[in-house]
Amino acid sequence: MLWKNWSMANSAKIDQQELVLHGVAASPGIAIGEAYFLDRQRLSVVEHPIDDELVESELAAFADAVELARQQLRAVQAELEQQSRTEHFYIIDTQLLILQDDMLIGGTTALIRDLRINAAGALKRVLKNFRQTFDRIEDEYLRERGSDIELVGERILRNLAGHEPQALMDLDRRSVIIAHDLSPADTCQLDKRQVVAFVTDLGGRTSHTAILARSLDIPAVVGLENVTRRISAGAPVIVDGCSGEIVCWPSSKTLQAYLEKKRHYEFYQDELRNYCELPARTLDGQQVSVQANLEFPQEAEIARRNGALGVGLLRTEFMYMARSLPPTEEEQLDTYRQIIEEFNPYPVTIRTLDVGGDKFVPDLSLADEANPAMGMRSIRLSLWERKLFRIQLRAILRASAYGRVRLMFPMISGLSEVRACREMLTEVMAELRAQDMAFDENLEMGIMVETPSAVLLADVLAQEVDFFSIGTNDLIQYCLAVDRGNEHVAYLYEPFHPTILRALKTVADAARNAGISLCVCGEMAAEPMYSIVLMSLGYRELSMNSPGISRVKKLIRQWNTGKGEALVQTLLRQKTAADVLLSLHEAFAEFFPEADPGRDF
Ligand code: PEP
Ligand code: MG
Repeated sequence: MLWKNWSMANSAKIDQQELVLHGVAASPGIAIGEAYFLDRQRLSVVEHPIDDELVESELAAFADAVELARQQLRAVQAELEQQSRTEHFYIIDTQLLILQDDMLIGGTTALIRDLRINAAGALKRVLKNFRQTFDRIEDEYLRERGSDIELVGERILRNLAGHEPQALMDLDRRSVIIAHDLSPADTCQLDKRQVVAFVTDLGGRTSHTAILARSLDIPAVVGLENVTRRISAGAPVIVDGCSGEIVCWPSSKTLQAYLEKKRHYEFYQDELRNYCELPARTLDGQQVSVQANLEFPQEAEIARRNGALGVGLLRTEFMYMARSLPPTEEEQLDTYRQIIEEFNPYPVTIRTLDVGGDKFVPDLSLADEANPAMGMRSIRLSLWERKLFRIQLRAILRASAYGRVRLMFPMISGLSEVRACREMLTEVMAELRAQDMAFDENLEMGIMVETPSAVLLADVLAQEVDFFSIGTNDLIQYCLAVDRGNEHVAYLYEPFHPTILRALKTVADAARNAGISLCVCGEMAAEPMYSIVLMSLGYRELSMNSPGISRVKKLIRQWNTGKGEALVQTLLRQKTAADVLLSLHEAFAEFFPEADPGRDF
């Protein structure tokens, strides 16, 4: 194997002090390679005034730099096409769209002309404004989207400064890419034969880079803050994308330990692949519907390959990103239709817009909020911005003519919201009928249960909806009063907290009593041990990220539901998260003596 050759060839070099750094585990897997630096440090730009007669030439230089950026991105697309790697085209498309954005391009041009300043200085100002706007967005996922604009801006700045873009397609050795940040365009150009992993100073769990790394199956650790300053080019590096650890200049003992871990990991992954196509059925014949969470339409095919039987959560936020106008009804319809057709005859659950801030949807002009997690977000925003909501409802309804669609509303906190949504839906249905437009008259309408209020009111809400889907990411945040994106209180964000168990049971009981279907679509569903707990509580639909599917299926197939009742009773008796976890480990050691079901490497 190549990595074995690497370790032999490099063992002589291992004479430096071992350095261990910790970051965010962005994409699982263990890789060993040589540090290759990608120069993506921010350029230092100095703003300076220019003479009146230089304004036109500065404007022309800016236009040239933008055009060059366009050509560079098109060249990346052509290269990807040649390598038949078109699945990530949308990233380049997004960047090409940003290049047309009036706030970015028109805004910079206006500053050059009005303030009489250099193009780089003007662009830097515009980028700063964007950054401040995006930083205020509470939703981590959307906040990360601001980085797309920054990356396009950096590309233009480099062109203005005359820097050549660094080639990433023809590396001649197994490389760990080290960068301050990686643009999605960089990421999808990575030559998978030579790039074994990447690590970056910036980035979070839901940054584009992290999402792509997972879909490309390249181990990655992000958010290391200063890795670019701590290690040098050519250094041997181990990247553990499972734990978020990187080791530079490993001692031979460390290297041996990681080689062993890598061997186990690869063996486990090979084994998991066998489960993609198998049904998620317990030993006693209980079927669980394992579905996928999609953030982008391009993930649909990957999810299908991983064995997803439907989409339990289509996050529609991606359609509203990085554009100056919200998507039209026809655009939305097109996108939904593609996904529905990919999954036919399985259901696709489309969630209406769930944003935590306002600024990136240009039609909206809401005030900054002191406490946005509890402010004008999600369904509240849709019910406030009715025009936008109506367009989305029309598109979803029309898409339902092409397959099985379920409509889902996020962040419901009371019955009046459900009724307001139902009323809107009824109106839109009448409108479509009057226009002779086809849609599913029996379209299922459900809600996400992700606020404590919805949990406590679950019996009432269950009377007026067709399904519940539990958003555990937010449910944990709101029930435990712990900001899901705040690393300082991350130790309190406990999925196994007794409060969460009780909430899950309350909702499951309410759904069962009302005879409605029940799903979990938070990250918890992809955690194998929790998937068994959820099943034992009565959940029969689990929706998760694609890589989690085979892992969860494997465990379900070893489970016997007869053991579920006792397990739930034991867990519900526990008083702290630590006690719940301990009981779970004990129970699993007994149920699966040969396996290590909690293992995620
Ligand atoms: C959740 O809150 O659990 C969820 C699935 O939605 P999101 O992560 O998009 O808020
Ligand atoms: Mg949520």
